[in-house]
Amino acid sequence: MTVVPQIRPAPARRKIAILGSTGSVGRQTIDLIARAPDAYETVALTANKNVGALAEQARLLHAQMAVVADESQYQALKDALAGTPTKVAAGAQAVVEAAEADSDWIMSAIVGAAGLPATLAAAERGATIAFANKETLVCAGPLMMKLVAERGATLLPVDSEHNAIYQVFDFDHKDGIARLILTASGGPFLSLSREEMAKVTPEQAVKHPVWNMGAKISVDSATLMNKALEVIEAAFLFQMPREQIDVLVHPQSVIHSMVEYRDGSVLAQLGSPDMRTPIGFCLAWPRRMETPVPKLDLAKIGQLTFQAPDPQKFPALAFAQEALRKGGTAPAILSAANEVAVQAFLDKRIGFLDIERINEAVLTALPTAALTDLDVLREADAAARAKAEEMITSRQ
Ligand code: NDP
Repeated sequence: MTVVPQIRPAPARRKIAILGSTGSVGRQTIDLIARAPDAYETVALTANKNVGALAEQARLLHAQMAVVADESQYQALKDALAGTPTKVAAGAQAVVEAAEADSDWIMSAIVGAAGLPATLAAAERGATIAFANKETLVCAGPLMMKLVAERGATLLPVDSEHNAIYQVFDFDHKDGIARLILTASGGPFLSLSREEMAKVTPEQAVKHPVWNMGAKISVDSATLMNKALEVIEAAFLFQMPREQIDVLVHPQSVIHSMVEYRDGSVLAQLGSPDMRTPIGFCLAWPRRMETPVPKLDLAKIGQLTFQAPDPQKFPALAFAQEALRKGGTAPAILSAANEVAVQAFLDKRIGFLDIERINEAVLTALPTAALTDLDVLREADAAARAKAEEMITSRQ
Protein backbone atom coordinates (compact mmCIF):
# COMPACT_ATOMS: atom_id res chain seq x y z
CA MET A 1 0.00 0.00 0.00
CA THR A 2 1.35 3.42 -0.87
CA VAL A 3 -0.19 6.47 0.71
CA VAL A 4 -0.55 8.83 -2.23
CA PRO A 5 -0.38 12.46 -1.06
CA GLN A 6 -3.75 14.17 -0.92
CA ILE A 7 -3.41 17.38 -2.93
CA ARG A 8 -5.70 19.96 -1.37
CA PRO A 9 -5.71 23.59 -2.42
CA ALA A 10 -3.67 25.62 0.05
CA PRO A 11 -5.95 28.04 1.94
CA ALA A 12 -5.28 31.76 1.51
CA ARG A 13 -4.32 31.88 5.19
CA ARG A 14 -2.97 28.65 6.59
CA LYS A 15 -3.82 27.85 10.21
CA ILE A 16 -0.73 26.30 11.70
CA ALA A 17 0.58 24.62 14.86
CA ILE A 18 4.26 24.03 15.57
CA LEU A 19 5.11 21.19 17.94
CA GLY A 20 8.67 21.70 19.17
CA SER A 21 8.72 25.35 18.11
CA THR A 22 11.77 26.20 20.25
CA GLY A 23 14.03 23.59 18.62
CA SER A 24 16.21 23.88 15.54
CA VAL A 25 13.47 22.90 13.07
CA GLY A 26 10.85 24.87 15.01
CA ARG A 27 12.90 28.08 14.98
CA GLN A 28 13.62 27.78 11.27
CA THR A 29 9.91 27.28 10.63
CA ILE A 30 9.19 30.47 12.55
CA ASP A 31 11.92 32.29 10.68
CA LEU A 32 10.00 31.61 7.45
CA ILE A 33 6.57 32.37 8.89
CA ALA A 34 7.77 35.69 10.32
CA ARG A 35 8.74 36.74 6.77
CA ALA A 36 5.19 36.17 5.47
CA PRO A 37 3.00 36.85 8.52
CA ASP A 38 -0.19 37.45 6.51
CA ALA A 39 -0.08 33.95 5.04
CA TYR A 40 -0.24 32.16 8.40
CA GLU A 41 -2.38 32.17 11.50
CA THR A 42 -0.67 30.54 14.48
CA VAL A 43 -3.02 28.34 16.44
CA ALA A 44 -0.51 26.66 18.77
CA LEU A 45 3.18 26.54 19.69
CA THR A 46 4.71 23.94 22.01
CA ALA A 47 8.04 23.41 23.80
CA ASN A 48 9.38 21.13 26.49
CA LYS A 49 10.71 23.65 29.03
CA ASN A 50 12.21 26.62 27.21
CA VAL A 51 9.62 29.09 28.42
CA GLY A 52 11.57 32.22 27.48
CA ALA A 53 11.87 31.31 23.80
CA LEU A 54 8.32 29.97 23.66
CA ALA A 55 6.83 33.17 25.09
CA GLU A 56 8.87 35.29 22.70
CA GLN A 57 7.65 33.24 19.73
CA ALA A 58 4.04 33.39 20.93
CA ARG A 59 4.22 37.19 21.12
CA LEU A 60 5.88 37.45 17.71
CA LEU A 61 3.26 35.29 15.97
CA HIS A 62 0.26 36.30 18.14
CA ALA A 63 -0.23 32.60 18.88
CA GLN A 64 -3.62 31.56 20.19
CA MET A 65 -2.11 28.91 22.45
CA ALA A 66 1.33 28.21 23.97
CA VAL A 67 2.02 24.88 25.63
CA VAL A 68 4.97 23.73 27.69
CA ALA A 69 5.28 19.97 28.23
CA ASP A 70 7.08 20.32 31.56
CA GLU A 71 4.28 21.09 34.04
CA SER A 72 6.64 22.76 36.50
CA GLN A 73 7.05 25.57 33.95
CA TYR A 74 3.37 26.42 33.78
CA GLN A 75 3.47 29.48 36.05
CA ALA A 76 6.62 30.81 34.41
CA LEU A 77 4.94 30.61 31.00
CA LYS A 78 1.77 32.23 32.34
CA ASP A 79 3.80 35.09 33.80
CA ALA A 80 5.81 35.49 30.59
CA LEU A 81 2.62 35.81 28.53
CA ALA A 82 0.62 37.91 31.01
CA GLY A 83 -1.31 40.66 29.24
CA THR A 84 -1.42 38.82 25.91
CA PRO A 85 -4.46 36.95 24.53
CA THR A 86 -2.38 33.74 24.22
CA LYS A 87 -3.88 30.85 26.21
CA VAL A 88 -1.34 28.92 28.26
CA ALA A 89 -1.29 25.21 29.12
CA ALA A 90 1.20 22.64 30.42
CA GLY A 91 1.78 18.90 30.44
CA ALA A 92 2.14 16.09 27.91
CA GLN A 93 -1.63 15.88 27.40
CA ALA A 94 -1.77 19.61 26.64
CA VAL A 95 0.81 19.05 23.86
CA VAL A 96 -1.55 16.47 22.36
CA GLU A 97 -4.41 18.96 22.67
CA ALA A 98 -2.31 21.51 20.78
CA ALA A 99 -2.12 18.97 17.95
CA GLU A 100 -5.87 18.43 18.16
CA ALA A 101 -6.67 22.16 18.02
CA ASP A 102 -8.19 23.67 14.94
CA SER A 103 -5.17 24.00 12.62
CA ASP A 104 -4.95 22.62 9.10
CA TRP A 105 -1.14 22.36 9.02
CA ILE A 106 1.08 20.98 11.75
CA MET A 107 4.85 20.98 12.08
CA SER A 108 5.82 17.85 14.01
CA ALA A 109 9.28 18.82 15.30
CA ILE A 110 9.49 17.43 18.82
CA VAL A 111 12.64 15.36 19.21
CA GLY A 112 12.41 11.63 19.97
CA ALA A 113 9.53 9.28 20.74
CA ALA A 114 8.04 12.05 22.93
CA GLY A 115 6.56 13.42 19.69
CA LEU A 116 4.53 10.29 19.01
CA PRO A 117 1.22 10.99 20.82
CA ALA A 118 0.81 14.48 19.36
CA THR A 119 1.76 13.39 15.84
CA LEU A 120 -0.73 10.52 16.00
CA ALA A 121 -3.39 12.96 17.23
CA ALA A 122 -2.75 15.18 14.21
CA ALA A 123 -3.01 12.18 11.85
CA GLU A 124 -6.17 11.04 13.61
CA ARG A 125 -7.98 14.21 12.57
CA GLY A 126 -6.69 14.10 8.99
CA ALA A 127 -4.39 17.12 9.22
CA THR A 128 -1.56 18.02 6.87
CA ILE A 129 1.56 17.13 8.85
CA ALA A 130 4.99 18.52 8.05
CA PHE A 131 6.94 15.70 9.44
CA ALA A 132 10.38 16.22 11.04
CA ASN A 133 10.05 13.94 14.07
CA LYS A 134 11.48 10.85 12.37
CA GLU A 135 11.55 8.80 15.59
CA THR A 136 7.74 8.71 15.47
CA LEU A 137 7.69 7.03 12.08
CA VAL A 138 10.59 4.76 12.96
CA CYS A 139 8.79 3.51 16.09
CA ALA A 140 5.24 3.37 14.84
CA GLY A 141 5.61 3.32 11.05
CA PRO A 142 2.92 0.77 10.13
CA LEU A 143 0.44 2.12 12.71
CA MET A 144 1.05 5.68 11.62
CA MET A 145 0.75 4.97 7.87
CA LYS A 146 -2.48 3.03 8.43
CA LEU A 147 -3.92 5.94 10.36
CA VAL A 148 -2.80 8.42 7.70
CA ALA A 149 -4.51 6.35 4.99
CA GLU A 150 -7.71 5.82 6.98
CA ARG A 151 -8.06 9.44 8.07
CA GLY A 152 -6.96 11.05 4.82
CA ALA A 153 -4.08 12.86 6.53
CA THR A 154 -1.11 14.09 4.51
CA LEU A 155 2.49 13.53 5.56
CA LEU A 156 4.95 16.00 4.09
CA PRO A 157 8.51 14.96 4.93
CA VAL A 158 10.71 17.71 6.37
CA ASP A 159 13.87 15.63 6.64
CA SER A 160 15.87 16.95 3.69
CA GLU A 161 16.49 13.46 2.27
CA HIS A 162 12.86 12.37 2.39
CA ASN A 163 11.72 15.74 1.19
CA ALA A 164 14.05 15.35 -1.79
CA ILE A 165 12.69 11.89 -2.55
CA TYR A 166 9.13 13.13 -2.14
CA GLN A 167 9.77 15.77 -4.79
CA VAL A 168 10.95 13.23 -7.39
CA PHE A 169 8.96 10.14 -6.38
CA ASP A 170 6.35 9.05 -8.92
CA PHE A 171 3.56 8.05 -6.53
CA ASP A 172 1.27 7.09 -9.43
CA HIS A 173 3.75 4.71 -11.09
CA LYS A 174 5.68 3.30 -8.20
CA ASP A 175 6.42 0.06 -10.04
CA GLY A 176 8.89 2.03 -12.16
CA ILE A 177 11.06 2.79 -9.13
CA ALA A 178 14.15 0.61 -8.68
CA ARG A 179 15.87 2.21 -5.71
CA LEU A 180 15.92 5.09 -3.25
CA ILE A 181 19.37 6.54 -2.68
CA LEU A 182 19.65 8.50 0.56
CA THR A 183 22.66 10.78 0.66
CA ALA A 184 24.62 11.24 3.89
CA SER A 185 27.11 13.97 4.69
CA GLY A 186 29.07 11.40 6.72
CA GLY A 187 29.09 13.66 9.78
CA PRO A 188 32.06 15.27 11.51
CA PHE A 189 34.06 12.05 11.97
CA LEU A 190 34.05 10.71 8.43
CA SER A 191 37.85 10.77 8.15
CA LEU A 192 38.67 9.64 11.71
CA SER A 193 39.94 6.16 12.55
CA ARG A 194 38.00 3.99 15.01
CA GLU A 195 40.72 4.68 17.63
CA GLU A 196 40.22 8.42 17.16
CA MET A 197 36.43 8.04 17.23
CA ALA A 198 36.65 6.28 20.60
CA LYS A 199 37.98 9.53 22.11
CA VAL A 200 35.63 12.14 20.66
CA THR A 201 33.71 14.40 23.04
CA PRO A 202 30.06 15.52 22.95
CA GLU A 203 31.28 19.04 22.09
CA GLN A 204 33.00 17.70 18.96
CA ALA A 205 30.05 15.46 18.06
CA VAL A 206 27.45 18.24 18.08
CA LYS A 207 29.52 20.37 15.67
CA HIS A 208 28.23 19.17 12.34
CA PRO A 209 30.35 20.24 9.34
CA VAL A 210 27.37 21.21 7.15
CA TRP A 211 24.08 21.33 9.08
CA ASN A 212 23.24 23.28 12.24
CA MET A 213 20.87 21.01 14.18
CA GLY A 214 19.70 19.99 17.66
CA ALA A 215 22.06 17.98 19.89
CA LYS A 216 20.45 14.55 19.47
CA ILE A 217 20.30 14.56 15.68
CA SER A 218 23.85 15.96 15.53
CA VAL A 219 25.17 12.99 17.53
CA ASP A 220 23.03 10.68 15.38
CA SER A 221 24.67 12.19 12.30
CA ALA A 222 28.11 11.53 13.76
CA THR A 223 27.35 7.82 14.40
CA LEU A 224 25.34 7.54 11.13
CA MET A 225 22.41 6.42 13.32
CA ASN A 226 20.58 9.38 11.81
CA LYS A 227 20.95 7.75 8.39
CA ALA A 228 19.91 4.41 9.87
CA LEU A 229 16.74 6.00 11.26
CA GLU A 230 16.20 7.66 7.88
CA VAL A 231 16.43 4.32 6.06
CA ILE A 232 13.68 2.99 8.33
CA GLU A 233 11.70 6.23 7.92
CA ALA A 234 11.96 5.93 4.12
CA ALA A 235 10.89 2.28 4.17
CA PHE A 236 7.66 3.20 5.99
CA LEU A 237 6.99 6.55 4.37
CA PHE A 238 7.46 5.42 0.78
CA GLN A 239 6.48 1.78 1.46
CA MET A 240 9.68 0.48 -0.12
CA PRO A 241 11.43 -2.82 0.68
CA ARG A 242 14.67 -2.39 2.64
CA GLU A 243 16.67 -4.03 -0.16
CA GLN A 244 15.73 -1.09 -2.40
CA ILE A 245 17.04 1.62 -0.08
CA ASP A 246 20.72 2.53 -0.32
CA VAL A 247 22.93 5.12 1.33
CA LEU A 248 25.60 7.14 -0.44
CA VAL A 249 28.08 9.39 1.38
CA HIS A 250 28.13 12.84 -0.21
CA PRO A 251 29.99 15.26 2.09
CA GLN A 252 28.85 18.51 0.40
CA SER A 253 25.14 17.74 1.07
CA VAL A 254 24.04 19.39 -2.18
CA ILE A 255 22.20 16.41 -3.63
CA HIS A 256 19.69 15.71 -0.88
CA SER A 257 18.69 12.27 -2.18
CA MET A 258 17.74 10.45 -5.37
CA VAL A 259 15.25 8.06 -6.88
CA GLU A 260 16.52 5.55 -9.43
CA TYR A 261 13.95 4.36 -11.96
CA ARG A 262 13.96 1.01 -13.74
CA ASP A 263 14.92 2.57 -17.07
CA GLY A 264 18.17 3.87 -15.55
CA SER A 265 17.00 7.45 -14.98
CA VAL A 266 18.07 8.88 -11.65
CA LEU A 267 16.12 11.91 -10.42
CA ALA A 268 17.60 14.06 -7.69
CA GLN A 269 16.69 17.18 -5.76
CA LEU A 270 19.54 19.63 -5.18
CA GLY A 271 19.86 22.73 -3.08
CA SER A 272 22.04 24.59 -0.61
CA PRO A 273 22.21 22.66 2.65
CA ASP A 274 19.67 24.74 4.57
CA MET A 275 16.63 23.22 6.27
CA ARG A 276 14.53 26.23 5.32
CA THR A 277 14.21 24.76 1.80
CA PRO A 278 12.40 21.56 2.85
CA ILE A 279 10.54 23.43 5.60
CA GLY A 280 9.45 26.07 3.07
CA PHE A 281 8.39 23.32 0.67
CA CYS A 282 6.08 21.95 3.37
CA LEU A 283 4.83 25.37 4.50
CA ALA A 284 3.77 26.42 1.01
CA TRP A 285 2.78 22.97 -0.29
CA PRO A 286 1.43 22.41 -2.89
CA ARG A 287 2.73 25.82 -4.00
CA ARG A 288 6.25 27.22 -3.63
CA MET A 289 7.44 30.14 -1.53
CA GLU A 290 10.40 32.51 -1.46
CA THR A 291 12.99 31.60 1.16
CA PRO A 292 16.19 33.39 2.22
CA VAL A 293 18.21 30.25 1.44
CA PRO A 294 21.36 31.08 -0.57
CA LYS A 295 20.83 30.03 -4.19
CA LEU A 296 22.79 26.99 -5.24
CA ASP A 297 25.91 28.03 -7.15
CA LEU A 298 27.31 24.84 -8.66
CA ALA A 299 30.05 26.68 -10.56
CA LYS A 300 31.34 28.02 -7.26
CA ILE A 301 31.11 24.62 -5.56
CA GLY A 302 32.97 23.08 -8.52
CA GLN A 303 32.99 19.47 -7.40
CA LEU A 304 30.54 17.07 -5.82
CA THR A 305 32.04 13.92 -4.35
CA PHE A 306 30.60 10.56 -3.35
CA GLN A 307 31.73 7.42 -1.56
CA ALA A 308 30.17 4.23 -0.30
CA PRO A 309 29.60 4.15 3.48
CA ASP A 310 32.22 2.13 5.38
CA PRO A 311 30.33 -0.59 7.29
CA GLN A 312 33.28 -1.30 9.61
CA LYS A 313 33.55 2.31 10.71
CA PHE A 314 29.81 2.98 10.83
CA PRO A 315 27.87 -0.18 11.71
CA ALA A 316 24.65 1.76 12.36
CA LEU A 317 23.38 1.25 8.81
CA ALA A 318 23.44 -2.51 9.34
CA PHE A 319 21.30 -2.02 12.47
CA ALA A 320 18.63 -0.34 10.35
CA GLN A 321 18.57 -3.24 7.91
CA GLU A 322 18.41 -5.71 10.80
CA ALA A 323 15.58 -3.81 12.53
CA LEU A 324 13.59 -3.73 9.27
CA ARG A 325 14.28 -7.42 8.67
CA LYS A 326 13.00 -8.29 12.15
CA GLY A 327 10.06 -5.93 11.74
CA GLY A 328 7.38 -5.39 14.41
CA THR A 329 8.76 -3.56 17.43
CA ALA A 330 12.43 -3.93 16.39
CA PRO A 331 12.77 -0.39 14.91
CA ALA A 332 11.18 1.06 18.07
CA ILE A 333 13.61 -0.93 20.24
CA LEU A 334 16.58 0.35 18.24
CA SER A 335 15.36 3.95 18.33
CA ALA A 336 14.61 3.91 22.08
CA ALA A 337 17.99 2.35 22.91
CA ASN A 338 19.65 5.00 20.78
CA GLU A 339 17.81 7.86 22.51
CA VAL A 340 19.04 6.63 25.90
CA ALA A 341 22.59 5.99 24.66
CA VAL A 342 22.87 9.39 22.95
CA GLN A 343 21.69 11.17 26.09
CA ALA A 344 24.20 9.19 28.18
CA PHE A 345 26.96 10.23 25.76
CA LEU A 346 25.87 13.88 25.90
CA ASP A 347 25.93 13.57 29.72
CA LYS A 348 29.46 12.13 29.47
CA ARG A 349 28.43 8.85 31.09
CA ILE A 350 29.63 6.74 28.14
CA GLY A 351 32.02 7.10 25.22
CA PHE A 352 31.09 7.73 21.59
CA LEU A 353 31.57 4.14 20.41
CA ASP A 354 29.49 2.85 23.34
CA ILE A 355 26.43 4.25 21.56
CA GLU A 356 26.65 1.70 18.75
CA ARG A 357 27.56 -1.07 21.21
CA ILE A 358 24.44 -0.39 23.27
CA ASN A 359 22.21 -0.06 20.22
CA GLU A 360 23.35 -3.35 18.78
CA ALA A 361 23.18 -5.21 22.11
CA VAL A 362 19.65 -3.99 22.93
CA LEU A 363 18.40 -4.75 19.41
CA THR A 364 19.86 -8.27 19.66
CA ALA A 365 18.81 -8.98 23.25
CA LEU A 366 15.16 -7.98 23.23
CA PRO A 367 12.47 -10.11 21.63
CA THR A 368 10.49 -8.56 18.80
CA ALA A 369 6.71 -8.47 19.00
CA ALA A 370 4.18 -7.80 16.25
CA LEU A 371 3.26 -4.11 16.21
CA THR A 372 -0.46 -4.56 16.78
CA ASP A 373 -1.21 -1.47 18.86
CA LEU A 374 0.26 1.35 20.89
CA ASP A 375 0.40 -0.67 24.11
CA VAL A 376 2.78 -3.15 22.48
CA LEU A 377 4.86 -0.21 21.30
CA ARG A 378 4.97 1.39 24.76
CA GLU A 379 6.09 -1.90 26.30
CA ALA A 380 8.86 -2.38 23.74
CA ASP A 381 9.98 1.24 24.18
CA ALA A 382 10.12 0.91 27.99
CA ALA A 383 11.96 -2.42 27.83
CA ALA A 384 14.55 -1.03 25.40
CA ARG A 385 15.13 2.07 27.53
CA ALA A 386 15.52 -0.05 30.68
CA LYS A 387 17.94 -2.45 28.97
CA ALA A 388 20.02 0.41 27.56
CA GLU A 389 20.12 2.12 30.96
CA GLU A 390 21.15 -1.15 32.62
CA MET A 391 24.06 -1.49 30.19
CA ILE A 392 25.14 2.10 30.78
CA THR A 393 25.01 1.73 34.56
CA SER A 394 26.76 -1.63 34.64
CA ARG A 395 29.56 -0.15 32.54
CA GLN A 396 30.32 2.58 35.08
P1 NDP B 1 15.85 20.19 19.04
O1 NDP B 1 16.46 19.41 20.14
O2 NDP B 1 16.57 21.38 18.54
O3 NDP B 1 14.37 20.65 19.46
C1 NDP B 1 13.44 19.75 19.99
C2 NDP B 1 12.13 20.41 20.28
O4 NDP B 1 11.27 19.47 20.96
C3 NDP B 1 12.23 21.61 21.23
O5 NDP B 1 11.20 22.51 20.96
C4 NDP B 1 12.02 20.96 22.60
O6 NDP B 1 11.59 21.89 23.59
C5 NDP B 1 10.92 19.96 22.26
N1 NDP B 1 10.88 18.81 23.16
C6 NDP B 1 11.92 18.08 23.61
N2 NDP B 1 11.50 17.09 24.42
C7 NDP B 1 10.15 17.22 24.50
C8 NDP B 1 9.14 16.52 25.23
N3 NDP B 1 9.42 15.49 26.04
N4 NDP B 1 7.86 16.92 25.07
C9 NDP B 1 7.55 17.97 24.26
N5 NDP B 1 8.47 18.68 23.58
C10 NDP B 1 9.76 18.30 23.69
O7 NDP B 1 15.58 19.15 17.88
P2 NDP B 1 15.63 19.40 16.29
O8 NDP B 1 14.80 20.58 15.93
O9 NDP B 1 17.03 19.31 15.82
O10 NDP B 1 14.92 18.07 15.77
C11 NDP B 1 13.52 17.85 15.93
C12 NDP B 1 13.13 16.62 15.12
O11 NDP B 1 13.37 16.89 13.75
C13 NDP B 1 13.98 15.38 15.46
O12 NDP B 1 13.18 14.23 15.37
C14 NDP B 1 15.05 15.36 14.37
O13 NDP B 1 15.51 14.06 14.08
C15 NDP B 1 14.26 15.93 13.19
N6 NDP B 1 15.08 16.60 12.18
C16 NDP B 1 15.83 17.69 12.53
C17 NDP B 1 16.61 18.34 11.59
C18 NDP B 1 17.41 19.56 11.93
O14 NDP B 1 18.00 20.16 11.03
N7 NDP B 1 17.48 19.96 13.17
C19 NDP B 1 16.68 17.85 10.20
C20 NDP B 1 15.79 16.75 9.94
C21 NDP B 1 15.03 16.15 10.90
P3 NDP B 1 12.68 22.72 24.50
O15 NDP B 1 13.34 23.70 23.57
O16 NDP B 1 11.86 23.36 25.54
O17 NDP B 1 13.65 21.69 25.03
